[in-house]
Amino acid sequence: MVTAQMPTYARADVTFERGEGCYLIDQDGKRYLDFGAGIAVCGLGHAHPGLIAALTEQAGALWHTSNLYQIPGQRRLAERLVEATFADTVFFTNSGAEAVECGLKLVRKYQSTNGHPERYRVITFDGSFHGRTLATIAAAAQDKLLDGFGPPVEGFDQVPFGDLAAVKASIGPETAAILIEPIQGEGGIRPTEPGFLGQLRALCDEHGLLLMLDEIQTGVGRTGRLFAHEWDNVDPDVMAIAKALGGGFPVGACLATEQAARGMIAGSHGSTFGGNPLAMAVGNAVLDVVLEPTFLDHVNKMANYLSQQLAGIVDRHPKIFSGARGKGLMVGLQCVVTNGEVVDRLRSNGLLSVPAGDNTVRLLPPMIITEAEIGVAVEALERAASELEQ
Ligand SMILES: *Cc1c(COP(=O)(O)O)cnc(C)c1O
Repeated sequence: MVTAQMPTYARADVTFERGEGCYLIDQDGKRYLDFGAGIAVCGLGHAHPGLIAALTEQAGALWHTSNLYQIPGQRRLAERLVEATFADTVFFTNSGAEAVECGLKLVRKYQSTNGHPERYRVITFDGSFHGRTLATIAAAAQDKLLDGFGPPVEGFDQVPFGDLAAVKASIGPETAAILIEPIQGEGGIRPTEPGFLGQLRALCDEHGLLLMLDEIQTGVGRTGRLFAHEWDNVDPDVMAIAKALGGGFPVGACLATEQAARGMIAGSHGSTFGGNPLAMAVGNAVLDVVLEPTFLDHVNKMANYLSQQLAGIVDRHPKIFSGARGKGLMVGLQCVVTNGEVVDRLRSNGLLSVPAGDNTVRLLPPMIITEAEIGVAVEALERAASELEQ
């Protein structure tokens, strides 16, 4: 008989009761250092006092009104995101996939408003992940996402990750945009080569296409810049974000330039819940922390320390790990043994991680992680690797 929860997840047999900073505590009181952070969501760890205060204060005042009315917290969060990024305007959603959907609609609408309704196709990359809606699985075009769900949504042309010649070759009269993750997350922490985003930018400018980034996993400080594309000094036209933006409260956003969003007028798109007062209170509280002048310095410092330590682990355990890659606090350990075994063994040693494509284990610690906590994680990695070598 089917379980009451639709069995779409193979869940680990552990139940957490509480969170404290970078730790999760299970029903038996066992403490786990959380280097999964709810899949890069809990960027400020668990039970952050600023987030609790913002959420509970808003909860006592007003939860939801719908977007039929003014929402001051939403205007404020939008203005702050505009101020901090390339974007001129923001649409709020409840999830990453919805933020990508909004962006996909926006790029089509842009072309149509510009007199090119025939331009609706979007170039995407193999190994990518953009969510689980019908359009976003078509964008990622992976068999395991599409299998059994009928004809994929039309309008995506996929090319090998990082292959500029293939991108050029697939640009046609119907192309509207290029969509890419600056660092593939689910795909196994695969970074784009330095310069690649700039080359895509140039191609977009040359052909009248929009450059759309999926920074759902890389964004909001994770890589050591507010958004990963800042490392490349490249501005997109459109960007989907989510995950760490709400620190655990469901919220996403689609950011765009004024030009790119010119077709998005009253009635063109909507969401009942998107940008509601609770989500916006938490989003603003997240930005209060992440936009502090020293916050990203901390992320970069911890990232350097973590990457030095991981280099040592990889060196000492060549039968378990073949390398570490990524940027900032978004790290992938490439495994020699199966990544699932490593994740399980790390968990039994008190360290939570997330498996990803390309036989990788993702380490995505809360960005408030300390050197001492990284030390604890490294000891767990060391123990897990030694056990797996037995
Ligand atoms: C998590 C993720 C998504 C999907 O976000 P949901 O909130 O699960 O819909 C899309 N793109 C990337 C890069 C992600 O990491």
